[in-house]
Amino acid sequence: MRGNLCVLGIESTAHTFSASVTKENEKVLSDVKDVYVPPEGSGIHPTEAAKHHALVAAKVIKEALSASGVKAGDLDAVAYAMGPGLGPCLRVGAVSARTMALALGRPLVPVNHAIGHIELGCMLTGAKSPLVLLISGGHTMVISCSAGMWRVLGETLDLTLGQLLDQLGRHFGYSSPCGRRIEEAASRSHRYLRLPYTVKGNDVSFSGLITAAKRLVDVGEPFEDVCFSVQESAFATTVEVTERALAFTGSKEVMVVGGVAANKRLSEMLNVMVERHSARLSVVPLRYSGDCGAQIAWTGLLAFKEGVTIPVEKSVIRQSWRLDTVPLPWRTAA
Ligand code: AMP
Ligand code: MG
Repeated sequence: MRGNLCVLGIESTAHTFSASVTKENEKVLSDVKDVYVPPEGSGIHPTEAAKHHALVAAKVIKEALSASGVKAGDLDAVAYAMGPGLGPCLRVGAVSARTMALALGRPLVPVNHAIGHIELGCMLTGAKSPLVLLISGGHTMVISCSAGMWRVLGETLDLTLGQLLDQLGRHFGYSSPCGRRIEEAASRSHRYLRLPYTVKGNDVSFSGLITAAKRLVDVGEPFEDVCFSVQESAFATTVEVTERALAFTGSKEVMVVGGVAANKRLSEMLNVMVERHSARLSVVPLRYSGDCGAQIAWTGLLAFKEGVTIPVEKSVIRQSWRLDTVPLPWRTAA
């Protein structure tokens, strides 16, 4: 295999259709995205999001190639997010990637979206084998790499942190994603309203919290106070299970990735916790915290280097592909 590999990555698991070109030595050369925005008060409708992705796919891929300065013929492989995610959305990314791979005569590389968040985070922050807090629209998990696999040490039993914030925002009439608006509203309050705090074993649960928070909105409590209280409760439970996992693994490095990693209050709470353990906190840069093609392109590059490819005729999508079932040859290679 030649040096300085160059891979095109395509992400389409949920609201975002994104493409990126990464190179082994120069890392992320381009990252272009177009995000489906649902009507006010609504969440992601999978077939509507897929229609959006189909409309923007060619434009986004062309722009990613032209911004990278790489000619399509110089790509070594095409990577795509095989899962987990919404079926109709995943299919658009898979079809786009198959088309590119067949047209260029290049191998296709399947990438687990959650592992994409983690590997890009490690590359951008310099973290080597951290305890990972993956918090996004699709995940809320505390993860550690052991014996060649990412192992889940704690996770949500129902809603993810992203879904919690998005559902609260939608109840107030915003359209998803609502995390940034909730953070902004919460920053204007310091009035804590009592809400459920649910930790079970090393897992968290947010279903009681969202029901109670919606009720507070319905009885006329100021939205910023509800946002502040939801953030305090939900983030405290998340920090608690992360702290237990940190004590258990003895890790000295915690990395936060996923769209909710953009939240400053959460970083503040995590910082207080990691300092108690003389550990270091790395937060994925804001630009790359949410879903993006660079996660897929970079992880695809690492996988392709270790020989991971999939024949086009077998390149299915996997809507519920858990990250703790995926071998990581690039982490176990000598
Ligand atoms: P992802 O699935 O990784 O693209 O992450 C999307 C999720 O991140 C959505 O649920 C957003 O509401 C959430 N999000 C984005 N920015 C923020 C923020 N500043 N604070 C909290 N959540 C956020
Ligand atoms: Mg994601």
